[in-house]
Amino acid sequence: MKKKKIIIVGNGFASLFFIQYFLCSPLFPFFTGSLRKLISKYDITLIGNGKFIYFPAIPEMIIRKKSRESVTIDIRPFLKRRNIRFIDDVVTDIQEGGRTVITRKGQYSNDALFLGIGPAFLEEDIPGTHEYTYSPCAGPDEMEAFVQKFETLDSGVIYLGFKINKKDGFVAGRAGQMYESATLLDFALKKKGIREKFDIHFFSSNTSPGDTGLITDSLKARNIILDYGYEPAEFVAGGMKDADGTFRKADLVLFSPGIVAPELARKSCLPVSPGGHIDVDKYGQVKGLNNVFAAGDCANHENPPEWVPHQAHMAQFRAQAAAKNLRALFSGKPASHTYRHELSCILNMENDAIWLSASADNKRTVFDLFPRHSRKLVGVKNAFEKLYLFYLRYL
Ligand SMILES: Cc1cc2nc3c(=O)[nH]c(=O)nc-3n(C[C@H](O)[C@H](O)[C@H](O)COP(=O)(O)OP(=O)(O)OC[C@H]3O[C@@H](n4cnc5c(N)ncnc54)[C@H](O)[C@@H]3O)c2cc1C
Repeated sequence: MKKKKIIIVGNGFASLFFIQYFLCSPLFPFFTGSLRKLISKYDITLIGNGKFIYFPAIPEMIIRKKSRESVTIDIRPFLKRRNIRFIDDVVTDIQEGGRTVITRKGQYSNDALFLGIGPAFLEEDIPGTHEYTYSPCAGPDEMEAFVQKFETLDSGVIYLGFKINKKDGFVAGRAGQMYESATLLDFALKKKGIREKFDIHFFSSNTSPGDTGLITDSLKARNIILDYGYEPAEFVAGGMKDADGTFRKADLVLFSPGIVAPELARKSCLPVSPGGHIDVDKYGQVKGLNNVFAAGDCANHENPPEWVPHQAHMAQFRAQAAAKNLRALFSGKPASHTYRHELSCILNMENDAIWLSASADNKRTVFDLFPRHSRKLVGVKNAFEKLYLFYLRYL
């Protein structure tokens, strides 16, 4: 029987979870690559850059607990153990309803396509974002550049903020990560004994001056100045400008813009949602195309709760549903597996931590295993990271 050709685009969380659930067994000792070659019904190819980035650990680069190297994993041995062909390339177009994938160097046909191409950021929303701000979401190289500049300062003003794209009815942006970065900056400065020489501001037009809660309390307790409701009109050299032309000095700005799907979505045959994501249904199927799935930060949700964020945690659920549905389609059954909307995230402040958790059905998340607010959660977050990276490196 001819093997079904599957192409996976991207080697981030969504794609790796898709592989895990599609191949069913997460555990692959080193010799099983050749065994799978003999017994596999599938011919799987992944197109990506071969470098998996463990984004949740990037804020900890501020306190030098994590480095560029420790958050970057060469994913090729993981793929080899699973008998997945790796192509080091960038997809530039998708044609013929998903059946043809065009890259910078070639062209590939498939029987099924999975897209885990991650986010793009709305940098053009606020002029000067690209030129004058850093972002932890741009990856470890940019975060390293931010930390290096931060470490040259012995006094100054630092602004941190985020913006959310809400056009698709959910949280397409990174708020938690920016709160985390603000508290870790505070921690780093206190450790150096120079906290009082710095003003740390936190801004977002997606917050309101009257907002309260555990995160806000944590920022206030650290003397972080809350510019809730504020959005600069423009980032400029040495700071930012308000709509009335007022200049605000900033020695450093760490900012995360709203999220959409990468340009590939708009340039190819993929349907795009009003908010700029790849438009998928509740089964993870790209609308109007056969055997094409998308999950993770690039993909829209069908009827999401308004609080659901883009997260690795959600990428996992969505990729799991997509994997099960593709298996169903291959065996002649309709797609029927949906996924749960859930938020679960540990906000690591190093000397304290908060577990943010919510679910659409108000049922427990992660079995309600953790306390909501405890320094011990820092250890839990690190344990998750160690386990997952061990799995990627060795299993
Ligand atoms: C600083 C930070 C902290 C975070 N903390 C948490 C946390 O604590 N908990 C949590 O659950 N989530 C967290 N997140 C969110 C989480 O990292 C993302 O939701 C997750 O990475 C999404 O997975 P993805 O596969 O959709 O995208 P990504 O992980 O970004 O992967 C996308 C992949 O697609 C590839 N790609 C893109 N375009 C192409 C193309 N044209 N051709 C080939 N390959 C392509 C990229 O190279 C990459 O390999 C955090 C994010 C950041 C930035």
